[in-house]
Amino acid sequence: MVFVRDRLLDEIRKVIMENIPPEAEMRRVEFEGPYLVIYVRNPGFLKSETSAIKNIAKILRKRIIVKVDPQARKKPQEARSKILELVPSEAGVSEKDIEFDEVLGEVVIKAAKPGLVIGAEGENLKRILVETGWRPRVVRKPPIKSGLLEGIINYMMNESDYRLKFLRRASEKIHVDPLFKSDTVRITALGGFMEVGRSAILLETPNSKILLDFGLNPGINTPPNMYPRIDMLNIAPEEIDAVVVTHAHVDHCGLVPFLFKYGYDGPVYTTEATRDLMALMQLDILDVARREGNPIPFTQREVQKMVLHTIPLKYGDTTDIAPDVKITLYNAGHILGSAMVHIYAGNPAGGGINILYSGDIKFQRTRLLERASVEEIPRVDILILESTYGATDLPPRNEAEEKLIEIIKKTIERKGKVLIPTLSVGRAQEIMLVLRSAMMEKKLDEIPVYIEGMIDEVTAIHTAYPELLSRETFALFKSGENPFSYTTFKRVEDRRARSDIVDAPESSVIMATSGMLTGGPAVEYFKLLAGDPRNTMVFVNYQVKGTLGRRIKDGEKEIQLQEEDGRIVTVKVNMEIQSVEGFSGHSDRKQLVRFVESLPTIPKKIILNHGEPSAIASLAKELGKSKDIRVRTADIIMPNVLDTLTFKP
Ligand SMILES: [Zn+2]
Repeated sequence: MVFVRDRLLDEIRKVIMENIPPEAEMRRVEFEGPYLVIYVRNPGFLKSETSAIKNIAKILRKRIIVKVDPQARKKPQEARSKILELVPSEAGVSEKDIEFDEVLGEVVIKAAKPGLVIGAEGENLKRILVETGWRPRVVRKPPIKSGLLEGIINYMMNESDYRLKFLRRASEKIHVDPLFKSDTVRITALGGFMEVGRSAILLETPNSKILLDFGLNPGINTPPNMYPRIDMLNIAPEEIDAVVVTHAHVDHCGLVPFLFKYGYDGPVYTTEATRDLMALMQLDILDVARREGNPIPFTQREVQKMVLHTIPLKYGDTTDIAPDVKITLYNAGHILGSAMVHIYAGNPAGGGINILYSGDIKFQRTRLLERASVEEIPRVDILILESTYGATDLPPRNEAEEKLIEIIKKTIERKGKVLIPTLSVGRAQEIMLVLRSAMMEKKLDEIPVYIEGMIDEVTAIHTAYPELLSRETFALFKSGENPFSYTTFKRVEDRRARSDIVDAPESSVIMATSGMLTGGPAVEYFKLLAGDPRNTMVFVNYQVKGTLGRRIKDGEKEIQLQEEDGRIVTVKVNMEIQSVEGFSGHSDRKQLVRFVESLPTIPKKIILNHGEPSAIASLAKELGKSKDIRVRTADIIMPNVLDTLTFKP
């Protein structure tokens, strides 16, 4: 293997030497993860020579980064002054917002308005690199402070030695000539097939093994049905080459740290926002597990390791993740940072297989996010499609919003309180935007909206990536308004405040996690509010089979619950139970069919997953009704967990 890699590097060096202007004074070429890093002494060549790097990237089909040789970088103090000079003062960058990472040759610049640091088409970034020799990495200072985000940035800075070593090691498995020339691809369903929960897929080529998602089943507390069935394969975690995570819901990412605990040492590819959100979700799983005494097979250490091993990708950037596998992420419209994964497997020169794994998708725009972007997706031969609402026609969003507002108004009239158990990621922020607008437009009284649980930290992370939000929400941020800080929104920081909120004479809305009542403050509020028929509980998200939320939604009126001291109490459900479906972050069956029809090429095979069997069967039928799909798609496949499918181009 080493031999092959050295030869590859020699060839690469030759191409670079032929194309890079001599005044760049190239020193060396290194692979750092999926990137090819060219170290130069004089980055000034970038000023005049704009096409050289693009040409090299095109010939080599590699992602290229230019860094400056350590001796040629300006001293940090000098570089700091230069950066402050180059960055407009409105960007909100002060001296302490500029930090240098000697190992990676990067300067991290924290800015209130990152766009101004970046400049039109990255012009300012280039100037910073050229004039200081440090490669700038710009992060947003979110208007809502996030302890987690700061923690991640500091941790990565402190561990940059480890990170560089890891990136070099990871690159050794990516940038080699494929050993076997074959284009066969095997897809094994590990979890989330004919069910919702524990999503995981193993994708194998003759040269590589890739995991797509690795989640847990939130409705089940006992193995083996809680975990993806990797235990049944003859594969040790260290044999996996890469993990790709579509989004930060625990049923897709909850057990990624478990892989690290049992020997996985490779990269995790996902968006930057998903990295932050998933770390938060995993830490929360640990927290809840500790409080409830459920064993969880990983610790905080593995969550930290996962963060260091994450290689964040932007939507639309094609990246080599194995000798014969390239991936590109596309916005999935489901939650902040969510992605569909396009996978090209096979001969790098062409003729391989194109797979699209949808993850969870929303093919309709919401207040929070733009819809899944199909426009730029290249050819798709095999589509792995979620089917959560494959049997459901969701009401239009405006109807859903009106229904929610109507429910709240009725509850206010009878002096009750409204409990909305919410998923902390996505749905909570969407409902906040709905309530804010209804109150601003006077459709709803300005009553307090109490927010408890992880929602606050998650919202803060949303404010760090406003460019990923819907155009209208991003526009609010650009105009200096933070819609998540509306005047009636009140965060509950101390659990002792709960009884005051419940006993207060005035009506209020309480938003609390978890969204399926599997734990968290939502369950505590439920206990306090359930007995009073004036109150209402409104579900605004999918309730997975087996969760308390699902049982109540299905009509159970007496619930046995455990108190913190271990006592079992019976809770009588006298409160009104409502469910508003239209807010889903998933596509309904019409949207799913339209999504397939809107792909640039209709896939030859469609594999349905992430749905209960009835939803999957119904979606298969619905897809068959579409003429486009009927003509072009040879198979609609509905695998079970542990089924393996083999494909050739
Ligand atoms: Zn999801």
